[in-house]
Amino acid sequence: MQIAMLQDQIVLAEELEPVYLDRGIFFGDGVYEVVRSYDGKIFGLEEHLQRFARSLSAINIKGVDIESIRSRVSRAFKTAGISNAKIYFHITRGSEPRNHVGRAESKPNFFLTVTELDDDSEEKTKGIAVSTHPDWRWKRCDIKSLNLLPNVLARRDAAKKGCAEAIFVDRKGLITEGAASAFFAIFGRSDVAENHKTAPAGQILRSAPLTANILPSITRDFVFKAGRNIGLAVIERSLTPEEASRADELFITSTTKDIVAVVRFDDKLVGDGKPGKYTKLLMREFRRKYCEELPAV
Ligand code: PLP
Repeated sequence: MQIAMLQDQIVLAEELEPVYLDRGIFFGDGVYEVVRSYDGKIFGLEEHLQRFARSLSAINIKGVDIESIRSRVSRAFKTAGISNAKIYFHITRGSEPRNHVGRAESKPNFFLTVTELDDDSEEKTKGIAVSTHPDWRWKRCDIKSLNLLPNVLARRDAAKKGCAEAIFVDRKGLITEGAASAFFAIFGRSDVAENHKTAPAGQILRSAPLTANILPSITRDFVFKAGRNIGLAVIERSLTPEEASRADELFITSTTKDIVAVVRFDDKLVGDGKPGKYTKLLMREFRRKYCEELPAV
């Protein structure tokens, strides 16, 4: 490569900042994580670091010391001094002239940001509308990769419809997850008898099983635990949009938002159009049990 152009300016290739040659830009060749803090303590850091290590290994980026990532996260978090923070970090395979295979000696690039978390209280109290969108993603959605174009397009489509999240529906007509969240339904007693014969009597909490079609969400694990704590029976089985549209309650979860009620699913109101009783109970249990008294990092 001899020359490059930045906007309308021609520059010599050798003078280019390495950041312009990051494989993350050319190919989305990297993986990322997002963690958050509650009142000055990071939630689930161990779990997020483990998932990050799995993602790195799945795309064969070698030589990253997870302990050094932990200390970078901790140092940046302490330096920022933000008590309710969102910490984003990624690693790409490195910077080099565009070439699919890449050089073996490429050195991974690390990038991190700490920002104030906007715990949107209106979303929390009133819930959100969601819209379905075809799941156009690849077959390894269990890897938290930087390739997020299908997620971006689905979210933009949802926003155009006045919705805060897009819910992916795969080719078989099954809901996988949200564009940036896990997706859950709560069914009441009558549905238990009719459609969930294996569940004990009572409300059930249902979400897609962990496969390569979805991200192994950290919040999901804690939400299942919180659900069991409040007496919900947990079922890991995919839902169709039709089933979701007649659930008693729906909600999404993610690290930055924890639990947010879904009050409209496409054109249909969920329940009475307000966050449901069990969703609210879950929110309380989740915060009380898993977000207070976190260990210091
Ligand atoms: N699914 C997708 C596609 C996501 O992007 C996210 C979070 O960003 C989640 C699920 C929720 O994962 P977690 O609870 O680990 O934040």
